[in-house]
Amino acid sequence: MLDVGRHPNIKLLAYSEVEKVEGEEGAFKVTIRRKARYVDEDKCTGCGACKEKCPTVVPDAFNEGLGTRKAIYSLFAQGIPSTHTIDPAHCRQLNGKKCGICAKTCQAKAVNFDQKDRVVEIDVASIIIAAGYDVFDPSRISEYHYRDLPNVVTAIEFERLLSASGPTGGHLDRPSDRAFEAELAELGKKVEKAQKALEKYEEKYGASSSDFIMKYRSGDYGDDADKAKWAEKFEEFLPMHESLEAMKDKASGFSVAKRLAFVQCVGSRDFRFYPFCSGYCCMHSIKEAIIAHEHGPETTSTIFGMDIRAVGKGFEEYKIRGGNHSNITYVRGRVAEITEGQNHNPVITYEDTRERKVKSQEFDMVILATACAPTKGIIELSGKLGVELDKYNFIKTSPISPVDTSVPGVFVCGCAQAPMDVPESVAQASSAAARAAEIAFHYYSEKEKAVAC
Ligand SMILES: Cc1cc2nc3c(=O)[nH]c(=O)nc-3n(C[C@H](O)[C@H](O)[C@H](O)COP(=O)(O)OP(=O)(O)OC[C@H]3O[C@@H](n4cnc5c(N)ncnc54)[C@H](O)[C@@H]3O)c2cc1C
Ligand code: SF4
Ligand code: SF4
Repeated sequence: MLDVGRHPNIKLLAYSEVEKVEGEEGAFKVTIRRKARYVDEDKCTGCGACKEKCPTVVPDAFNEGLGTRKAIYSLFAQGIPSTHTIDPAHCRQLNGKKCGICAKTCQAKAVNFDQKDRVVEIDVASIIIAAGYDVFDPSRISEYHYRDLPNVVTAIEFERLLSASGPTGGHLDRPSDRAFEAELAELGKKVEKAQKALEKYEEKYGASSSDFIMKYRSGDYGDDADKAKWAEKFEEFLPMHESLEAMKDKASGFSVAKRLAFVQCVGSRDFRFYPFCSGYCCMHSIKEAIIAHEHGPETTSTIFGMDIRAVGKGFEEYKIRGGNHSNITYVRGRVAEITEGQNHNPVITYEDTRERKVKSQEFDMVILATACAPTKGIIELSGKLGVELDKYNFIKTSPISPVDTSVPGVFVCGCAQAPMDVPESVAQASSAAARAAEIAFHYYSEKEKAVAC
């Protein structure tokens, strides 16, 4: 990525959208909307002082909504260019309220609320579509109760929980526990505020609230209005404090998830959704189970699948190593349903096809290996480029030229063409780059010849 940013022959137009494509192989004119960041890319040093001070907190899409970010943010730590961006949907200043704290904080004077989208045109000989994929939405499979059960997560959410730069710093804290701890923190703030109010009375009258309330209840203070207010505040405080202590007690028993279940083919190899195999999910489940075991040696993982498709050099050995050294058990059987047991523990019902028995098992967390779905914007993008899509909405190619689209001079690579893992996407990207360079070389040398004549 850094190399791409620094390469003299590569111009990176991040945070931009293709609006229109005209022309043909060798002479395309592409109209691109460069969206306003409200931060000058050339001035921003990426120091992050602005986001420290920004008061607006919103869910962080990069962390799959499991964490939060500010209205001024960098999408992720190693992004190129290393600039910050203001989210116009949430920024107070851009929504007519008074703020501008980021502009006051930024020493590089990079914040510019007057920045506007810019539309640029570029001439290119060839185009490569590398728009990737989306993860299948597992809430479409009602029997898995993805949105109802907090400890049922997708593999991509699990990756963020496992990541040292993720919302839990790499600890496998269960979403149900995190939600409880957020409630606890909220109540803690209320109790603290109530305690401060009581302290004012305690200081004023030189008595503790608990001593005072005993006397008040026995009628010692008659109808003294200030004392009545103190008593009212104390009566409000007591149940809140008790709830807080009970919640703290419960939270002290929380521990990281140790019993993990991975459910394979969620939306893939399923005629209700995508009949094809997504290719990479068996391997990413094994990888995630191995990493989880590295984080906590007592972690056990059960991978439920019709079969484990470990296709690739060394992949089968990796699978076996997971079983032998990382507490992974492979169960051959499709998961029928996920329900909730005690303590928000997900319970999996499945058919063990080896034993031909229907069984149930409880886990701390369930991870869904969701299908590789075509990216949402692909229909619009393919329309602008005039390229055909296949029946699933991946870019259509032919088996003998897997990077050539239906439009000459327009190529495709990676998951925009079909589900594939990173090494295969990179290999295909090289192939598409070679095809694109071939066209560019041909047309530019033709042009040079014409100029020479
Ligand atoms: C949970 C999970 C774990 C995985 N782990 C592994 C692993 O360990 N190893 C492995 O080999 N593979 C893994 N994979 C698979 C891997 O993610 C894919 O193989 C890889 O991301 C495909 O690369 P790509 O460039 O085709 O697509 P993407 O990585 O999806 O990149 C496409 C990019 O294009 C951008 N884009 C989309 N539309 C537009 C548009 N209209 N204009 C401009 N930009 C656009 C997107 O924002 C995105 O940045 C995993 C997948 C999942 C779901
Ligand atoms: S103007 Fe205020 S809300 Fe908007 S990004 Fe700056 S600090 Fe955040
Ligand atoms: S790679 Fe594995 S989990 Fe993914 S669709 Fe294929 S068989 Fe199912």
